Amino acid sequence: MGIFSVLVDAPAHSGIAGALDYTSDHALKAGMLVRVPLGRREVLGLVWDCPTSTELDPQSLKPVLAAYTDLPPLNAAWCKLVQFGAQYYQRSWGEMAHQALPPQLRTLSDEQLQRRLKKLNTPGTPPQAPGPEALQPPTPTPEQAQVLQALQAPAAQDRTALLFGSTGSGKTEVYLRRMTDVLQHHPQAQALIMVPEINLTPQLEERVRARFEPLLGVGCVVSMHSAMTPAQRLNAWLAAHLGRARIVLGTRLSIFASIPHLKLIVVDEEHDPSYKQQEGARYSARDLAVYRGHLEGVQVILGSATPSLESWFQSRPAQGEDAGGRYLRLAMPSRVGDSALPDVKTVDMRMMPKGTLFAPLLLDAMRERVDRGEQVMVLLNRRGWAPVLMCTECDWKSQCPHCTAYRVFHREDRTLRCHHCGLSSRVPRHCPSCGNLDLGWQGRGTEQLHEHLTQWFAQARHPDDRPYSVLRIDADSTRHKGSLEQQLSQVHAGEVDVLVGTQMIAKGHDFRRMGMVVVADPDGALYSADFRAPERLFDLLLQAAGRAGRAARPEGAPPAQVWIQTRNPEHPLFAALRRHDYPGFAEQQLQERQLAGMPPYTHQALLRAEARQLSDALAFLDAARTAGLQGAADRITLYPPVPMAMQKVANAERAQMLIESVQRGALQQFLNTWSDALHATRTQHKRVTRWAIDIDPQAI
Ligand SMILES: [Zn+2]
Ligand SMILES: [Zn+2]
Repeated sequence: MGIFSVLVDAPAHSGIAGALDYTSDHALKAGMLVRVPLGRREVLGLVWDCPTSTELDPQSLKPVLAAYTDLPPLNAAWCKLVQFGAQYYQRSWGEMAHQALPPQLRTLSDEQLQRRLKKLNTPGTPPQAPGPEALQPPTPTPEQAQVLQALQAPAAQDRTALLFGSTGSGKTEVYLRRMTDVLQHHPQAQALIMVPEINLTPQLEERVRARFEPLLGVGCVVSMHSAMTPAQRLNAWLAAHLGRARIVLGTRLSIFASIPHLKLIVVDEEHDPSYKQQEGARYSARDLAVYRGHLEGVQVILGSATPSLESWFQSRPAQGEDAGGRYLRLAMPSRVGDSALPDVKTVDMRMMPKGTLFAPLLLDAMRERVDRGEQVMVLLNRRGWAPVLMCTECDWKSQCPHCTAYRVFHREDRTLRCHHCGLSSRVPRHCPSCGNLDLGWQGRGTEQLHEHLTQWFAQARHPDDRPYSVLRIDADSTRHKGSLEQQLSQVHAGEVDVLVGTQMIAKGHDFRRMGMVVVADPDGALYSADFRAPERLFDLLLQAAGRAGRAARPEGAPPAQVWIQTRNPEHPLFAALRRHDYPGFAEQQLQERQLAGMPPYTHQALLRAEARQLSDALAFLDAARTAGLQGAADRITLYPPVPMAMQKVANAERAQMLIESVQRGALQQFLNTWSDALHATRTQHKRVTRWAIDIDPQAI
């Protein structure tokens, strides 16, 4: 009988930090999945390679109940990834491991798993005849060919490369060709390709299947994302784990897929904030991808038209005393098919009467485009009719009773809705405070722009003698399953003249006929308290601009245009955008960050706490800080706790405290030593309802 360490799913702060010891008569291997007793429950466990105490009396230990012997053990590299993730993001190994496994495994008996495996082994549908995507993939442009050559170079094989390619430069084709190379080179090789949000890129999934299924067989591609059913997720996971799936295409959770023959990782839109998990273990799938590539000695390609400043900094060329960054930077500045980047122009809204939704010259320009058979996109990152409903007589506003926020006025269904806690109520007939019947609103949302444009275009008819069609796409219009796909296909089919929407429409879509993009009101982000707001705005605007003029234009047709309505036309961000100059923008931002001592020049962690009373949350953070200051090295700064900018959400008062260091290692070391004191402090502050530590936070 042997003693084995087993990881069980225990929250980070339950006191079970690492593994528990169990006995078994079988020779269990590290990485095997087992079922073990925990308290009165029977839970999934993972046999872990760590020394067990030799002084333990086996009689005092509980036995392993069953082992999933039909399943090959998870390999050492996977276990190391989990271990690193747990340590870096300050979680327990067990919690991290279980977050990394498909949820359905937890409830499956060994017999049920055997049935699954058997099913996976039965042959599927026979391969279809290869279509044009597989038979005649597009010929690489000179820029693509150059980048591919650089990626094939022996020195690049185990490195991280930042592929900086403008929108429409054909980054996807580079990924697909690189994958083809790697997958054909090794008969078992597997590739992981990550995307920020899979439902926004069904085109990519189709393209990957069409390219590789004729080459590697049906079933060679599996998807992994949170919208799949538990059964689908388990099947995809098993297919990758058994090596049957050669390509895993997924969102951030796919970084933990078991891929035993992993030879390439691609992270598309690497700058996208959705790679950062916002609950539980707050990991960055992009950062873990870089670590996993390093761990397994495989190439990682990070692709973006607006790289994160962290990745841009990591890929800086050597200069003077600076040896440069660790990543290889590869650039593809041109668009495929000679379609020029659109002209970017600003409209000075200070010259317009207050409350103007669209400058008259833009309405005329939209109409001209539409009459020529082109489409127009109008972008506003705010849904609903208006962000605030207000009384014209007294000072009543539609404040949410549970949050530090206003309830948004949705005119379509006559509701006031809080976008933070979800509270929804009917729009009042009169002012709840003074009874005045005349209620007004402040600001604008997508509903209002949609209505305004619908009415404006209803005054005339298209030269084809049909009414103009204005469509809105946002989280409200796409609440029902399948409605987003249906609305997008309307746009692709050319049934829509003007498309109004939030950032949902700005990213990833390949709208071939989009001749003009109007950015209705981006100014809020210029003055946000979050130091990453300009970076996000630049990305959003450049992405939106990237939707315009993707198809080559007929001779004599005016170039595609992007119009930005702003009260700050002289802002340097817009100047850089007019030049399509991401490097210039990034340089300026990096200089600011260096002067202000912000990432990537420093490394940060946030300790957050929630309580019914703000003072309770602050008291916990204060005590945690005092404990931290006793052990802190001089390279660590612990800032005093402050209420969060949005102080109250769903009646929880929220506060946070920033911890900073110029050295990542020093910060990690400090957090590890602080951890015990934090847990002890927590038990003394019982009125704190939730707390969490966020490493490399994306929003402050
Ligand atoms: Zn009133
Ligand atoms: Zn609320």
